[in-house]
Amino acid sequence: MEQYIGEAGRAADLADLDELGELIGAGRYFQRIPRPLLRNILRQGTLIDVEQDHCLIREGDASPSRMYILVEGSVAIVVNGHFILRLAEPGDVVGEMAVIQSTPRSADVITETPCRLISFPSDLFEIDADSPRASILYVLFAHIMAAKLRMTTAQSLIRKSQRVTSPGDSYVGIIDACGADRATAGATVRSIWPEAMITEFASPAEFYQCPNTFRFDLIIADVDFFDDFLNDATSVANFLAAMKLRGAHVMIVSQSCQQASRREFLIRQGAEDVVAKPCLPFDLEHAVSKARISYYKNLELDRAESAAETDQLTGLANRRRLEEFLEALVLVYPDQHRPFSLILLDVDHFKYYNDKHGHQNGDKILQALAGLLPRALRRGDLAARFGGEEFLVVLPDCDKPFALQVAEKLRLAIEAADLPHQHTQPGGNLTATFGVATFPHDARDTEALFRQADECLYRGKHLGRNVVVAPG
Ligand code: GH3
Ligand code: MG
Ligand code: MG
Repeated sequence: MEQYIGEAGRAADLADLDELGELIGAGRYFQRIPRPLLRNILRQGTLIDVEQDHCLIREGDASPSRMYILVEGSVAIVVNGHFILRLAEPGDVVGEMAVIQSTPRSADVITETPCRLISFPSDLFEIDADSPRASILYVLFAHIMAAKLRMTTAQSLIRKSQRVTSPGDSYVGIIDACGADRATAGATVRSIWPEAMITEFASPAEFYQCPNTFRFDLIIADVDFFDDFLNDATSVANFLAAMKLRGAHVMIVSQSCQQASRREFLIRQGAEDVVAKPCLPFDLEHAVSKARISYYKNLELDRAESAAETDQLTGLANRRRLEEFLEALVLVYPDQHRPFSLILLDVDHFKYYNDKHGHQNGDKILQALAGLLPRALRRGDLAARFGGEEFLVVLPDCDKPFALQVAEKLRLAIEAADLPHQHTQPGGNLTATFGVATFPHDARDTEALFRQADECLYRGKHLGRNVVVAPG
């Protein structure tokens, strides 16, 4: 709303549409809009400069809203005084739902730094009943919604690969400063979900220090001990967002959630269950049992789905799943800025092995190697059969030095493995050669990334095989 921006808002001409089109067109929502069309849409907005701490959208305001596209700077979305989300990439959008539904705003949007934005008044989104032509801004809206859908799908795909594959592989974390309460929660979990592994933490700090290889299916947390919960709740909001991203079922136990407004806040942030302390045994049991049921339901769904995405010989992911997974990682990159890496490996002199010991024995080697790979990987990494005797490992949230370490670990594991007839191979052992490539460092799209890893692999073969090679 203009009055919230106040005198600080200074309308400017959309002077350089080409430059703005490039900037915004690279953002998460507009990559698929043809640039001439995007320029046409931008021409209908107003470019404004806004100072820090100005309110663009005010919660509960029912007057016609505006939609904003961020060009520069960052804005925070705040609900009931609680920080929810930061938008800081060119091409990020705020206010689109309110503008299209003409509903009162349900959040404050406040500039965190000086910002440049393109503002679109709501009347641009109105469709004239007498005219068969939809507003050009509906095209924009449709693109935003489609991009959001793609993003949600990508996130759930990534989450799926973090989920477990065997029932004995479920983890429950209990975060509570009070030892007696941890013991009570632990006893309840053991009685309802005996197959789960339980880890206790006496503070959020202790929990965060837990290595990232760990992933929980259920977290039971007393949030009263989070630093700022009683004042501003940012750390709790961030904690819940992080847990949701990892696909954990979050159950909050706390004294403060006897207050309805706090319960509401926690549920809105994604907590599945909120139990007021002191906990009644029944409430605790009910919540744990709910989490366990949802865990097994997801497990079944995953199994049914993964059959279609599995390589029959090795049981690893097939190429279809691999490509889907990589696309998802590229898509969520602008959101999280976490690099990911590929390791391509190819068995050395495998034709020789087949010729000497027969194709069937060759198949057994491929199966044995496929069994070795996941053991050296983290949960959430993906090992796939890429082609005949080539495997590809995808490591989300992994930079180049770490990827090189993982590749070296895999190389050593294969070298050290006791495989049938391994010593008859040309080098005296059955080995593999590795090519590594990291997104976005080595390439900014999956095809180029594959190419980089493949070139490295090729160089490794020329270097004499049984080596790890990365670009540069
Ligand atoms: P290099 O060290 O250069 O990789 O030598 P190589 O012999 O492994 O390379 P090449 O690409 O010439 O041969 C790959 C062989 O892998 C050829 C093919 O018979 C074998 N192969 C491909 N898929 C399968 C499979 O599913 N099962 C078996 N047993 N062998 C396979
Ligand atoms: Mg090959
Ligand atoms: Mg080979």
